[in-house]
Amino acid sequence: MRKAFVVGHPIAHSRSPLIHGHWLAEHGIAGTYERRDVAPEAFPDFLRRLREHGFVGGNVTIPHKEAAFRLVDVLTPRAEKIGAVNTLFFDAQDRLCGDNTDAPGFVAHLDQSLGGDWPDRAGGTAVVLGAGGAARAIVVGLVERGLTRIRVANRTRDRAETLAALDPDHVTAVDWSELPEALGQAGLLVNTTALGMTGHAPLAIDLAPLPSGAAVADIVYAPLETPLLAQARARGLATVDGLGMLLHQAVPGFARWFGVRPEVTPALRSTIVADLG
Ligand code: NAP
Repeated sequence: MRKAFVVGHPIAHSRSPLIHGHWLAEHGIAGTYERRDVAPEAFPDFLRRLREHGFVGGNVTIPHKEAAFRLVDVLTPRAEKIGAVNTLFFDAQDRLCGDNTDAPGFVAHLDQSLGGDWPDRAGGTAVVLGAGGAARAIVVGLVERGLTRIRVANRTRDRAETLAALDPDHVTAVDWSELPEALGQAGLLVNTTALGMTGHAPLAIDLAPLPSGAAVADIVYAPLETPLLAQARARGLATVDGLGMLLHQAVPGFARWFGVRPEVTPALRSTIVADLG
């Protein structure tokens, strides 16, 4: 019986057990995937005892992604670049490895939603709003996917500068006030801030300057259609919701722990949408 987990604090809200439970049932695998609520001070000990508890690996969520980055034995190059770990597994030498699957998860969902040629149609350009942990993963994913001109706007300008320093040839920081000009040249707009999430203020932004062929993605998935996506749809722009990223980021972990590469299907999506209410 292979056992995996998602660890966070709090963790009751996590949909990951539903996603992995769906795939375990779909593939008839006798495995488990459970929630573990672990406070920050207990996290290092939790990681040290993974084998003792019979785990083959698991997911890491808020607030442990940076601690996991510091504590694992081996980092994938992508996790090293992003500075955060969301997926743990053991390698052939039984070393604890840390990966970050948010970046490929976001890009896989764009590919599935917009078609594989979207980077060309976007002219290699994007505007990213926000410069937190998710933005870091997304910017790394967009650069890996071949985008060459990414502009990052954030409430706190310093954080946008730090993010741009990851890859100064392809990423620049812009002020929020420069957005109309930046949007006018963007093939893709991505919201990575918490604005628009249920209980938060909506993102106050005018999409009018975006070219008519541009796409708008929001990584907030509660509600599924954020005010930003509703505005984009009303303008006739292609839209990409945040749920797909959550589903696609789960694929590499499941494949490593349970030996089957699962698909993100309409049935899986419906299960999670029903749970989101
Ligand atoms: P984070 O590291 O805390 O970053 C939050 C970002 O939002 C920062 O850029 C912050 O700006 C900005 N922000 C927060 N409140 C704001 C406000 N009132 N006005 C303007 N900007 C504001 O969080 P994160 O991990 O990057 O997550 C961000 C969002 O993405 C959350 O809603 C999270 O649920 C969602 N998310 C979704 C997925 C998915 O799979 N779909 C995955 C990861 C995260 P400052 O730097 O100025 O504070």
